Amino acid sequence: MSNTFSELGLSEPILRALASCGYHEPTPIQAKAIPLILQGKDIIGAAQTGTGKTAAFALPTLQRLETHTGTPRCLVLVPTRELAVQVEENFKRYGEHAGLSITLLYGGVSYGPQVRSLANGTDVVVATPGRLLDLWGQHKLRLDKIEVLILDEVDRMLDMGFIDDVSKIINLCPKERQTLLFSATVEKSILNIAKWALREPEIVDVRSGATSAETVAHYIYPVESYQKYELLLALLEKTAFKSVIVFTRTKRDADRITEWVESTQHPVTTMHADRSQRERQEALAGFKSGKYQVLVATDIAARGLDVRGISHVINYNVPDHPEDYVHRIGRTGRASEEGEAFTLFSPDEIPHLHAIEHLLGRQIERRKLEGFKYRFEPLMTDSPSASARPAGGLRRRNR
Ligand code: AMP
Repeated sequence: MSNTFSELGLSEPILRALASCGYHEPTPIQAKAIPLILQGKDIIGAAQTGTGKTAAFALPTLQRLETHTGTPRCLVLVPTRELAVQVEENFKRYGEHAGLSITLLYGGVSYGPQVRSLANGTDVVVATPGRLLDLWGQHKLRLDKIEVLILDEVDRMLDMGFIDDVSKIINLCPKERQTLLFSATVEKSILNIAKWALREPEIVDVRSGATSAETVAHYIYPVESYQKYELLLALLEKTAFKSVIVFTRTKRDADRITEWVESTQHPVTTMHADRSQRERQEALAGFKSGKYQVLVATDIAARGLDVRGISHVINYNVPDHPEDYVHRIGRTGRASEEGEAFTLFSPDEIPHLHAIEHLLGRQIERRKLEGFKYRFEPLMTDSPSASARPAGGLRRRNR
Protein backbone atom coordinates (compact mmCIF):
# COMPACT_ATOMS: atom_id res chain seq x y z
CA MET A 1 0.00 0.00 0.00
CA SER A 2 1.24 3.52 -0.80
CA ASN A 3 2.76 5.41 2.06
CA THR A 4 2.53 8.89 0.64
CA PHE A 5 -0.22 10.96 -0.87
CA SER A 6 1.83 11.73 -3.98
CA GLU A 7 2.21 8.00 -4.69
CA LEU A 8 -1.58 7.82 -4.83
CA GLY A 9 -1.57 10.15 -7.82
CA LEU A 10 -2.77 13.30 -6.11
CA SER A 11 -1.86 16.57 -7.75
CA GLU A 12 0.26 19.41 -6.47
CA PRO A 13 -2.53 21.81 -5.30
CA ILE A 14 -4.12 18.98 -3.29
CA LEU A 15 -0.75 17.90 -1.85
CA ARG A 16 -0.11 21.46 -0.73
CA ALA A 17 -3.48 21.60 1.05
CA LEU A 18 -2.74 18.28 2.75
CA ALA A 19 0.59 19.57 3.94
CA SER A 20 -1.09 22.55 5.57
CA CYS A 21 -3.61 20.17 7.21
CA GLY A 22 -0.64 18.34 8.68
CA TYR A 23 -1.54 14.96 7.17
CA HIS A 24 1.65 12.99 6.62
CA GLU A 25 0.38 9.73 5.26
CA PRO A 26 -2.86 8.30 3.92
CA THR A 27 -5.14 6.30 6.18
CA PRO A 28 -6.06 2.77 4.94
CA ILE A 29 -9.33 3.89 3.34
CA GLN A 30 -7.52 6.74 1.61
CA ALA A 31 -4.74 4.49 0.35
CA LYS A 32 -7.27 2.04 -1.09
CA ALA A 33 -10.01 4.33 -2.35
CA ILE A 34 -8.13 7.33 -3.79
CA PRO A 35 -6.48 5.52 -6.76
CA LEU A 36 -9.79 3.83 -7.67
CA ILE A 37 -11.73 7.08 -7.51
CA LEU A 38 -9.09 8.85 -9.59
CA GLN A 39 -9.59 6.15 -12.23
CA GLY A 40 -13.29 7.00 -12.30
CA LYS A 41 -14.46 3.77 -10.65
CA ASP A 42 -17.61 3.48 -8.56
CA ILE A 43 -16.94 2.32 -5.03
CA ILE A 44 -18.70 1.06 -1.95
CA GLY A 45 -16.64 2.27 0.98
CA ALA A 46 -17.32 0.33 4.15
CA ALA A 47 -15.95 2.65 6.75
CA GLN A 48 -17.12 4.48 9.81
CA THR A 49 -16.25 8.03 10.76
CA GLY A 50 -12.81 8.48 12.19
CA THR A 51 -11.18 6.47 9.41
CA GLY A 52 -10.51 9.49 7.20
CA LYS A 53 -13.28 8.60 4.78
CA THR A 54 -14.20 12.21 4.02
CA ALA A 55 -10.76 12.95 2.62
CA ALA A 56 -10.87 9.57 0.85
CA PHE A 57 -13.73 10.80 -1.34
CA ALA A 58 -13.09 14.55 -1.28
CA LEU A 59 -9.44 14.57 -2.41
CA PRO A 60 -9.75 12.59 -5.67
CA THR A 61 -13.09 14.22 -6.45
CA LEU A 62 -11.63 17.73 -6.15
CA GLN A 63 -8.84 16.65 -8.43
CA ARG A 64 -11.19 15.17 -11.01
CA LEU A 65 -13.38 18.28 -11.11
CA GLU A 66 -10.31 20.30 -11.99
CA THR A 67 -11.64 23.76 -12.80
CA HIS A 68 -14.48 26.02 -11.79
CA THR A 69 -17.43 25.92 -14.19
CA GLY A 70 -20.21 27.22 -11.97
CA THR A 71 -22.60 24.33 -12.65
CA PRO A 72 -22.97 21.64 -9.96
CA ARG A 73 -20.87 18.67 -11.08
CA CYS A 74 -20.48 16.95 -7.73
CA LEU A 75 -23.26 16.25 -5.24
CA VAL A 76 -22.52 14.93 -1.75
CA LEU A 77 -25.63 13.69 0.03
CA VAL A 78 -25.40 13.33 3.81
CA PRO A 79 -27.94 12.47 6.50
CA THR A 80 -27.55 15.35 8.95
CA ARG A 81 -26.85 19.07 8.97
CA GLU A 82 -23.86 18.63 11.24
CA LEU A 83 -22.27 16.17 8.87
CA ALA A 84 -23.07 18.47 5.94
CA VAL A 85 -21.21 21.31 7.67
CA GLN A 86 -18.21 19.10 8.30
CA VAL A 87 -18.04 17.67 4.81
CA GLU A 88 -18.22 21.18 3.37
CA GLU A 89 -15.43 22.36 5.69
CA ASN A 90 -13.31 19.44 4.53
CA PHE A 91 -13.92 20.16 0.85
CA LYS A 92 -12.95 23.77 1.45
CA ARG A 93 -9.76 22.88 3.29
CA TYR A 94 -8.63 20.25 0.82
CA GLY A 95 -9.67 22.37 -2.13
CA GLU A 96 -7.97 25.49 -0.82
CA HIS A 97 -5.85 25.78 -3.96
CA ALA A 98 -8.32 24.20 -6.39
CA GLY A 99 -10.45 27.28 -7.12
CA LEU A 100 -13.77 25.43 -6.95
CA SER A 101 -16.96 26.75 -5.35
CA ILE A 102 -18.81 24.72 -2.75
CA THR A 103 -22.40 25.20 -1.61
CA LEU A 104 -23.92 23.85 1.57
CA LEU A 105 -27.65 23.08 1.66
CA TYR A 106 -29.54 21.92 4.73
CA GLY A 107 -32.92 22.52 6.32
CA GLY A 108 -33.93 24.53 9.36
CA VAL A 109 -32.35 27.76 8.15
CA SER A 110 -33.52 30.42 5.70
CA TYR A 111 -33.31 29.88 1.97
CA GLY A 112 -31.78 33.23 1.03
CA PRO A 113 -28.03 32.61 1.41
CA GLN A 114 -28.30 29.09 -0.03
CA VAL A 115 -30.21 30.32 -3.07
CA ARG A 116 -27.70 33.12 -3.57
CA SER A 117 -24.79 30.72 -3.34
CA LEU A 118 -26.39 28.55 -6.03
CA ALA A 119 -27.14 31.54 -8.21
CA ASN A 120 -23.52 32.66 -8.00
CA GLY A 121 -22.45 29.42 -9.62
CA THR A 122 -21.15 26.41 -7.75
CA ASP A 123 -19.21 23.23 -8.52
CA VAL A 124 -19.84 21.06 -5.48
CA VAL A 125 -23.11 20.81 -3.55
CA VAL A 126 -23.10 19.25 -0.09
CA ALA A 127 -26.68 18.67 1.02
CA THR A 128 -29.18 16.88 3.19
CA PRO A 129 -31.92 15.22 1.12
CA GLY A 130 -34.97 17.29 2.18
CA ARG A 131 -33.57 20.74 1.48
CA LEU A 132 -31.96 19.59 -1.73
CA LEU A 133 -35.27 18.33 -3.14
CA ASP A 134 -36.97 21.43 -1.89
CA LEU A 135 -34.61 23.73 -3.81
CA TRP A 136 -34.63 21.46 -6.84
CA GLY A 137 -38.45 21.68 -6.84
CA GLN A 138 -38.13 25.46 -6.82
CA HIS A 139 -35.79 25.27 -9.83
CA LYS A 140 -32.97 26.79 -7.81
CA LEU A 141 -30.46 24.15 -8.80
CA ARG A 142 -29.87 21.67 -11.57
CA LEU A 143 -28.64 18.14 -11.18
CA ASP A 144 -28.36 17.24 -14.85
CA LYS A 145 -24.64 17.97 -15.01
CA ILE A 146 -23.64 15.91 -11.97
CA GLU A 147 -20.53 13.87 -12.76
CA VAL A 148 -19.77 12.56 -9.29
CA LEU A 149 -22.49 11.54 -6.85
CA ILE A 150 -21.33 10.80 -3.32
CA LEU A 151 -23.71 9.14 -0.88
CA ASP A 152 -22.24 9.42 2.60
CA GLU A 153 -23.39 7.46 5.67
CA VAL A 154 -26.04 5.67 3.66
CA ASP A 155 -26.87 3.35 6.56
CA ARG A 156 -27.84 6.37 8.58
CA MET A 157 -29.85 7.90 5.74
CA LEU A 158 -31.85 4.68 5.57
CA ASP A 159 -32.29 4.59 9.37
CA MET A 160 -33.64 8.10 9.20
CA GLY A 161 -36.24 7.14 6.61
CA PHE A 162 -34.66 8.98 3.68
CA ILE A 163 -34.81 6.04 1.27
CA ASP A 164 -37.45 7.59 -1.02
CA ASP A 165 -35.76 10.99 -1.12
CA VAL A 166 -32.36 9.45 -1.74
CA SER A 167 -33.71 7.23 -4.51
CA LYS A 168 -35.42 10.20 -6.12
CA ILE A 169 -32.24 12.28 -6.01
CA ILE A 170 -30.15 9.46 -7.50
CA ASN A 171 -32.65 9.28 -10.35
CA LEU A 172 -32.44 13.03 -10.94
CA CYS A 173 -28.70 12.74 -11.61
CA PRO A 174 -27.45 11.73 -15.05
CA LYS A 175 -27.04 7.98 -15.59
CA GLU A 176 -23.54 8.56 -16.89
CA ARG A 177 -21.71 9.47 -13.69
CA GLN A 178 -19.37 8.20 -10.99
CA THR A 179 -21.06 7.10 -7.78
CA LEU A 180 -19.32 6.67 -4.44
CA LEU A 181 -21.29 5.10 -1.63
CA PHE A 182 -20.06 5.15 1.96
CA SER A 183 -21.62 3.31 4.86
CA ALA A 184 -20.50 2.02 8.24
CA THR A 185 -22.49 -1.15 7.70
CA VAL A 186 -22.99 -2.96 4.44
CA GLU A 187 -26.16 -4.93 4.92
CA LYS A 188 -28.70 -6.07 2.34
CA SER A 189 -30.56 -2.76 2.12
CA ILE A 190 -27.32 -0.97 1.27
CA LEU A 191 -26.35 -3.53 -1.35
CA ASN A 192 -29.82 -3.22 -2.86
CA ILE A 193 -29.23 0.47 -3.49
CA ALA A 194 -25.74 -0.23 -4.80
CA LYS A 195 -27.19 -2.74 -7.25
CA TRP A 196 -29.17 -0.16 -9.19
CA ALA A 197 -27.32 3.06 -8.38
CA LEU A 198 -23.69 1.96 -8.88
CA ARG A 199 -21.88 0.53 -11.87
CA GLU A 200 -19.55 -2.40 -11.24
CA PRO A 201 -18.47 -1.00 -7.90
CA GLU A 202 -15.27 -1.99 -6.16
CA ILE A 203 -15.75 -2.69 -2.48
CA VAL A 204 -13.27 -0.99 -0.19
CA ASP A 205 -13.71 -2.37 3.29
CA VAL A 206 -11.56 -1.02 6.08
CA ARG A 207 -13.65 -2.27 8.97
CA SER A 208 -11.71 -4.64 11.14
CA GLY A 209 -14.58 -7.00 11.88
CA ALA A 210 -16.85 -4.01 12.58
CA THR A 211 -14.79 -3.16 15.59
CA SER A 212 -14.38 0.35 16.77
CA ALA A 213 -11.28 2.50 16.54
CA GLU A 214 -8.45 0.57 18.10
CA THR A 215 -7.25 3.46 20.17
CA VAL A 216 -10.46 3.57 22.20
CA ALA A 217 -10.55 1.69 25.49
CA HIS A 218 -14.17 1.00 26.33
CA TYR A 219 -15.85 -0.33 29.42
CA ILE A 220 -19.28 -1.23 30.69
CA TYR A 221 -20.38 0.05 34.10
CA PRO A 222 -23.26 -2.09 35.38
CA VAL A 223 -25.60 -0.13 37.67
CA GLU A 224 -29.30 -0.05 38.56
CA SER A 225 -31.08 2.48 36.37
CA TYR A 226 -32.07 4.75 39.27
CA GLN A 227 -28.40 5.12 40.22
CA LYS A 228 -27.23 6.05 36.75
CA TYR A 229 -27.42 9.73 37.50
CA GLU A 230 -25.22 9.41 40.59
CA LEU A 231 -22.79 7.16 38.77
CA LEU A 232 -22.56 9.58 35.85
CA LEU A 233 -21.67 12.47 38.13
CA ALA A 234 -19.20 10.26 40.04
CA LEU A 235 -17.55 9.23 36.78
CA LEU A 236 -17.27 12.85 35.70
CA GLU A 237 -15.74 13.68 39.04
CA LYS A 238 -13.25 10.82 39.11
CA THR A 239 -12.12 10.89 35.50
CA ALA A 240 -9.42 13.19 34.24
CA PHE A 241 -11.08 14.19 30.99
CA LYS A 242 -10.33 16.99 28.57
CA SER A 243 -13.72 16.91 26.94
CA VAL A 244 -16.55 14.44 27.11
CA ILE A 245 -19.69 13.72 25.13
CA VAL A 246 -22.56 12.17 27.08
CA PHE A 247 -24.99 10.36 24.79
CA THR A 248 -28.61 9.90 25.79
CA ARG A 249 -31.50 8.05 24.23
CA THR A 250 -34.04 10.87 24.46
CA LYS A 251 -34.12 14.65 24.18
CA ARG A 252 -35.68 14.81 27.64
CA ASP A 253 -32.78 12.88 29.14
CA ALA A 254 -30.36 15.18 27.36
CA ASP A 255 -32.02 18.25 28.89
CA ARG A 256 -32.23 16.66 32.35
CA ILE A 257 -28.62 15.54 32.35
CA THR A 258 -27.50 18.96 31.17
CA GLU A 259 -29.22 20.47 34.19
CA TRP A 260 -27.51 18.00 36.51
CA VAL A 261 -24.11 18.65 35.05
CA GLU A 262 -24.72 22.39 35.33
CA SER A 263 -24.72 21.91 39.08
CA THR A 264 -21.11 20.64 38.87
CA GLN A 265 -17.97 22.56 37.98
CA HIS A 266 -18.04 21.53 34.34
CA PRO A 267 -19.21 23.94 31.63
CA VAL A 268 -21.85 22.02 29.70
CA THR A 269 -23.96 22.39 26.58
CA THR A 270 -26.52 20.27 24.80
CA MET A 271 -27.39 19.23 21.29
CA HIS A 272 -30.55 17.55 20.07
CA ALA A 273 -33.18 17.88 17.38
CA ASP A 274 -35.43 20.26 19.35
CA ARG A 275 -32.74 22.87 19.56
CA SER A 276 -32.61 25.38 16.75
CA GLN A 277 -29.91 25.16 14.13
CA ARG A 278 -28.30 28.24 15.60
CA GLU A 279 -28.26 26.73 19.10
CA ARG A 280 -26.81 23.50 17.77
CA GLN A 281 -24.07 25.31 15.93
CA GLU A 282 -23.27 27.40 18.98
CA ALA A 283 -23.13 24.24 21.11
CA LEU A 284 -20.81 22.49 18.69
CA ALA A 285 -18.58 25.51 18.16
CA GLY A 286 -18.37 26.07 21.93
CA PHE A 287 -17.52 22.43 22.50
CA LYS A 288 -14.86 22.48 19.80
CA SER A 289 -13.28 25.64 21.14
CA GLY A 290 -13.17 24.31 24.68
CA LYS A 291 -15.72 26.76 26.07
CA TYR A 292 -17.79 23.74 27.06
CA GLN A 293 -16.11 20.70 28.52
CA VAL A 294 -19.18 18.50 28.40
CA LEU A 295 -21.57 18.03 25.48
CA VAL A 296 -24.79 16.17 26.19
CA ALA A 297 -26.28 14.89 22.96
CA THR A 298 -28.84 12.55 21.53
CA ASP A 299 -27.91 10.14 18.80
CA ILE A 300 -28.28 12.83 16.14
CA ALA A 301 -24.86 14.02 17.17
CA ALA A 302 -23.41 10.54 17.24
CA ARG A 303 -22.63 10.08 13.61
CA GLY A 304 -20.20 11.98 11.55
CA LEU A 305 -19.29 14.64 14.05
CA ASP A 306 -15.62 15.35 13.89
CA VAL A 307 -14.47 17.00 17.05
CA ARG A 308 -10.79 16.61 17.62
CA GLY A 309 -9.34 15.74 20.96
CA ILE A 310 -12.43 14.35 22.67
CA SER A 311 -10.96 12.31 25.46
CA HIS A 312 -14.12 10.58 26.69
CA VAL A 313 -17.51 9.34 25.61
CA ILE A 314 -20.13 8.29 28.14
CA ASN A 315 -23.23 6.43 27.03
CA TYR A 316 -25.94 7.11 29.57
CA ASN A 317 -27.93 4.32 27.95
CA VAL A 318 -26.81 1.27 26.05
CA PRO A 319 -27.55 2.24 22.43
CA ASP A 320 -30.55 0.41 20.89
CA HIS A 321 -28.71 -0.27 17.66
CA PRO A 322 -25.33 -1.98 17.97
CA GLU A 323 -23.92 0.10 15.10
CA ASP A 324 -24.66 3.23 17.11
CA TYR A 325 -22.34 1.99 19.82
CA VAL A 326 -19.51 1.80 17.33
CA HIS A 327 -20.37 5.26 16.02
CA ARG A 328 -20.61 6.78 19.44
CA ILE A 329 -17.36 5.50 20.78
CA GLY A 330 -15.87 6.47 17.42
CA ARG A 331 -16.25 10.10 18.59
CA THR A 332 -13.17 9.63 20.70
CA GLY A 333 -9.74 8.27 19.89
CA ARG A 334 -9.81 9.79 16.43
CA ALA A 335 -6.80 9.83 14.15
CA SER A 336 -4.73 7.83 16.63
CA GLU A 337 -5.39 9.89 19.73
CA GLU A 338 -6.14 7.89 22.84
CA GLY A 339 -9.70 7.83 24.10
CA GLU A 340 -11.95 6.12 26.61
CA ALA A 341 -15.62 5.25 26.39
CA PHE A 342 -17.88 4.29 29.30
CA THR A 343 -21.34 2.82 29.01
CA LEU A 344 -23.77 2.82 31.92
CA PHE A 345 -25.66 -0.42 31.74
CA SER A 346 -28.80 -1.30 33.68
CA PRO A 347 -30.45 -4.75 33.84
CA ASP A 348 -33.25 -3.92 31.42
CA GLU A 349 -30.68 -3.20 28.72
CA ILE A 350 -29.16 -6.65 28.56
CA PRO A 351 -30.49 -7.53 25.07
CA HIS A 352 -28.96 -4.34 23.65
CA LEU A 353 -25.63 -5.03 25.29
CA HIS A 354 -25.58 -8.58 23.98
CA ALA A 355 -26.33 -7.31 20.47
CA ILE A 356 -23.32 -4.98 20.66
CA GLU A 357 -21.04 -7.71 21.94
CA HIS A 358 -22.29 -10.00 19.21
CA LEU A 359 -21.39 -7.35 16.59
CA LEU A 360 -17.96 -6.80 18.11
CA GLY A 361 -17.43 -10.52 18.47
CA ARG A 362 -16.31 -10.25 22.06
CA GLN A 363 -17.32 -9.24 25.53
CA ILE A 364 -16.66 -5.69 26.64
CA GLU A 365 -14.88 -5.42 29.95
CA ARG A 366 -17.15 -4.70 32.96
CA ARG A 367 -15.90 -2.16 35.44
CA LYS A 368 -16.89 -1.04 38.85
CA LEU A 369 -16.20 2.50 40.00
CA GLU A 370 -14.11 2.26 43.14
CA GLY A 371 -15.49 4.27 46.04
CA PHE A 372 -18.97 4.60 44.51
CA LYS A 373 -21.79 3.63 46.87
CA TYR A 374 -23.63 1.01 44.85
CA ARG A 375 -27.07 0.22 46.26
CA PHE A 376 -26.81 -3.22 44.69
CA GLU A 377 -23.61 -5.07 44.04
CA PRO A 378 -23.02 -4.91 40.28
CA LEU A 379 -22.30 -8.30 38.78
CA MET A 380 -19.13 -8.11 36.77
CA THR A 381 -19.49 -11.24 34.66
CA ASP A 382 -22.27 -12.57 32.50
CA SER A 383 -22.13 -16.24 33.40
CA PRO A 384 -25.04 -18.26 31.96
CA SER A 385 -26.66 -18.46 35.39
CA ALA A 386 -26.16 -14.74 35.93
CA SER A 387 -27.75 -13.68 32.69
CA ALA A 388 -30.72 -15.90 33.51
CA ARG A 389 -31.41 -13.74 36.55
CA PRO A 390 -34.33 -11.41 36.15
CA ALA A 391 -32.20 -8.59 37.46
CA GLY A 392 -30.05 -9.05 34.34
CA GLY A 393 -26.74 -9.30 36.02
CA LEU A 394 -27.16 -7.33 39.23
CA ARG A 395 -27.13 -9.01 42.58
CA ARG A 396 -28.46 -7.59 45.79
CA ARG A 397 -25.79 -6.82 48.32
CA ASN A 398 -27.93 -6.53 51.45
CA ARG A 399 -31.22 -8.19 51.42
P1 AMP B 1 -13.34 11.33 8.94
O1 AMP B 1 -13.33 9.84 9.11
O2 AMP B 1 -13.43 11.73 7.52
O3 AMP B 1 -14.43 11.96 9.78
O4 AMP B 1 -11.93 11.90 9.46
C1 AMP B 1 -11.50 11.74 10.78
C2 AMP B 1 -10.45 12.73 11.18
O5 AMP B 1 -9.18 12.37 10.70
C3 AMP B 1 -10.67 14.16 10.69
O6 AMP B 1 -10.40 15.02 11.78
C4 AMP B 1 -9.68 14.36 9.60
O7 AMP B 1 -9.28 15.72 9.53
C5 AMP B 1 -8.54 13.48 10.06
N1 AMP B 1 -7.75 12.91 8.95
C6 AMP B 1 -8.22 12.47 7.77
N2 AMP B 1 -7.21 11.97 7.02
C7 AMP B 1 -6.08 12.08 7.75
C8 AMP B 1 -4.71 11.74 7.52
N3 AMP B 1 -4.32 11.14 6.39
N4 AMP B 1 -3.82 12.01 8.49
C9 AMP B 1 -4.23 12.59 9.64
N5 AMP B 1 -5.49 12.95 9.93
C10 AMP B 1 -6.42 12.69 8.99
